[in-house]
Amino acid sequence: MTLEAKSVIPALLGWYARSRRDLPWRHNVTPYRVWLSEIMLQQTTVPAVIPYFLKFTRDYPDIHALAAAPQEAVLRDWAGLGYYSRARNLHACAKLVSKSLGGTFPDTPEDLRKLPGIGPYTAGAIAALAFGRRASVVDGNVERVIARLCALETPLPAVKSEIRSIAETFFLDPANTDPAALPQAFMDLGASICTAATPLCAACPVAKNCKARKLGIAAQLPRRLKKADRPHRAGRVYVMTDRTGRVLLERRPDKGLLGGMAGLPTTDWLDGKTPPPPLAQFAADAVPETVRHVFTHFALTLTVHQGRMDDAPEGYYWDYPAHAGLPTVFKKALKLLQAA
Ligand code: SF4
Repeated sequence: MTLEAKSVIPALLGWYARSRRDLPWRHNVTPYRVWLSEIMLQQTTVPAVIPYFLKFTRDYPDIHALAAAPQEAVLRDWAGLGYYSRARNLHACAKLVSKSLGGTFPDTPEDLRKLPGIGPYTAGAIAALAFGRRASVVDGNVERVIARLCALETPLPAVKSEIRSIAETFFLDPANTDPAALPQAFMDLGASICTAATPLCAACPVAKNCKARKLGIAAQLPRRLKKADRPHRAGRVYVMTDRTGRVLLERRPDKGLLGGMAGLPTTDWLDGKTPPPPLAQFAADAVPETVRHVFTHFALTLTVHQGRMDDAPEGYYWDYPAHAGLPTVFKKALKLLQAA
């Protein structure tokens, strides 16, 4: 064990015991609840996840209940959390664990990684948090804390492999006496004290071990290469309503972006800033405002068309907006018209 780990581990565990965040998935810890929270937390913030976690654990209290739910219901309940492939994988994983594994999650990172939607980070997190196994768990918070503790000046993403091997010296060492708590201690430190913009070094339990603090460069780490600008796409979206206030919807194809979700009718989304021509089947004028939405790999601008019709064309159906389970990009189009 390195000198840093020998003093950092007890200091962090002691601080965590006193100061840990009270999060719903830290109560009644079970593999199901840990897995659910970790899938929800991928690419999303803790405050955004909490209401979804509470709703899912109320409506689907165990893996069998989630596995038995229709996929449409799971996608509808997930709507607004983004990255919808996670919801499809969540459901596929629930069905597999419920039916083929008798409802019991595997307890090693290697076996957990064989399940749908579980990558190296999530496998390590479940093995550590749910089963108390020593596993390396490196999320953005852990990355930042380690880059600062060790004053790593190589920019992200090149520095990631160095961070991962340093993380292993902490997480896998036999001196890690509480494998479930240590990753969460790192995460909480990153979330509440070693924050991205202004680290609160005066309150930090490992300040005396921190090389970046000594060098006065804490707030500059980890360094990052400037991301290339996101490419842009443009399209048109249609908000067609009937006389009762229902909106016209389609079920998006299972494969691809927002796959399997309910959606408003749209054109293709073309590269560049010019949308394709309007869809001939809808008599609907464009409104002056547009919807902007940023996906992981591109930014989208949608021209919004508004119109009335009474019969749903083939392939479309009517529903009330509140029941539809629409992804955020389409909710923005509806909200724009409500505000107009
Ligand atoms: Fe982060 Fe400051 Fe603590 Fe170093 S001393 S780990 S920079 S909060």
